[in-house]
Amino acid sequence: MMLNLKKSDLQQITVLGATGSIGVSTLDVLSRHRDKYQVFALTADKRWQLLAIQCLEHRPRYAVLVNSTHAADLQSELKKHQCPTEVLTGVDALSQVASAAEVDLVMAAIVGAAGLLPTMAAVKSGKKVLLANKESLVMAGGLFTQAVIEHKATLLPIDSEHNAIFQCLPNHRTADLSTSPSGLGVRKILLTASGGPFRNTALSELNNVTPEQACAHPNWSMGKKISVDSATMLNKGLELIEACWLFNAKPEQIQVVIHPQSVIHSMVEYVDGSVLAQMGNPDMRTPIAHALAWPERIESGVASLDLIATARLDFSAPDYQRFPCLALAETAAKTAGTAPAILNAANEVAVEAFLNRQLGFNQIAEVIAGVMEKSSITEPSDVSHVQFADQQARQMAGQLVRQFRR
Ligand code: NAD
Ligand code: MG
Repeated sequence: MMLNLKKSDLQQITVLGATGSIGVSTLDVLSRHRDKYQVFALTADKRWQLLAIQCLEHRPRYAVLVNSTHAADLQSELKKHQCPTEVLTGVDALSQVASAAEVDLVMAAIVGAAGLLPTMAAVKSGKKVLLANKESLVMAGGLFTQAVIEHKATLLPIDSEHNAIFQCLPNHRTADLSTSPSGLGVRKILLTASGGPFRNTALSELNNVTPEQACAHPNWSMGKKISVDSATMLNKGLELIEACWLFNAKPEQIQVVIHPQSVIHSMVEYVDGSVLAQMGNPDMRTPIAHALAWPERIESGVASLDLIATARLDFSAPDYQRFPCLALAETAAKTAGTAPAILNAANEVAVEAFLNRQLGFNQIAEVIAGVMEKSSITEPSDVSHVQFADQQARQMAGQLVRQFRR
């Protein structure tokens, strides 16, 4: 049968960070459902050749290449193949394609603080926002959730743990950010963590680990920054903060549990003693498909979970001596105000220095601790206030990195 769909039958989606790990998985799911979704815009920072391939396959209206160096190459490559996609450049174009009137859905999959403004633009124009960019909630959670409520946006978590928690909460909670866990009969949220590649590495060897070892996650294939964050477990700390905002929870209501198999993606315990878990193979296409189709279900391309082959599920408590970054993030979560934004900024600088072999693995935590000690924490009144705290923390972190290098 021929599909004869009017444009209006298709949901239009902008994928911010299309060339990254989440972006590529998103396009994989979308390519299975061309009868439901049409790509409106794809964005990338620098990888223009991959963006060109993606444009030729999905034929979006716009392609945004933030770094303009190869914009002309991209445009001529597209023209050569009679692809009508228009190339835009610069950071403002990210917010334009995230808030355009034609757009229904926005996948927010830019890595780091650079995701904040375009994700906010999507929220402020009332879109259905699929949030992978946890850093925007960590940096500006209060302002962000306020904007979701004010502009009637729908916020759906892509981070596998948060997507799991969302699925374990009652249906009627839907994406309403104002309901608290206790109002739903929830006793606590169990946030699972694999423990990363260094869960069993001798503590004496940790400072000599390389970026390659840190990026070789045992269960998940991800971008470099989040892979290092998983190795330090700062990622779980960011996720704790993210969960507080997404589910209106207090840090004390969330327990981090090490679960090395990454089959249970998180759990919710209720006051009657019931514990609900969401399980599945560790493949981001499951939460992506879930959020895309919510409240319905669509195929994701993910294989069935083979529980017989999995055989066992292990659980243990996190080791704070091994993972000082987790303790730093818990402190930032409890301090609130600009503390999480400062933690995040210091971490981004430290991780980049580690990836460039300018900093040892253990010094990532030392840089974050040093910046947090020196910073004064305030209650952010607007996004520019958050960005100011972010910039100051980056400067301090840069100085510490230079001191450690000497
Ligand atoms: P990645 O490094 O693979 O991709 C990042 C994307 O962002 C790329 O498309 C890149 O071009 C773009 N980008 C980078 N810097 C930019 C800038 N300054 N301006 C505009 N665009 C920029 O990252 P990823 O692993 O896909 O992660 C993306 C986000 O999703 C992160 O916030 C991460 O924490 C979150 N997340 C990822 C996973 C995963 O499995 N990869 C899981 C959960 C959450
Ligand atoms: Mg996660």
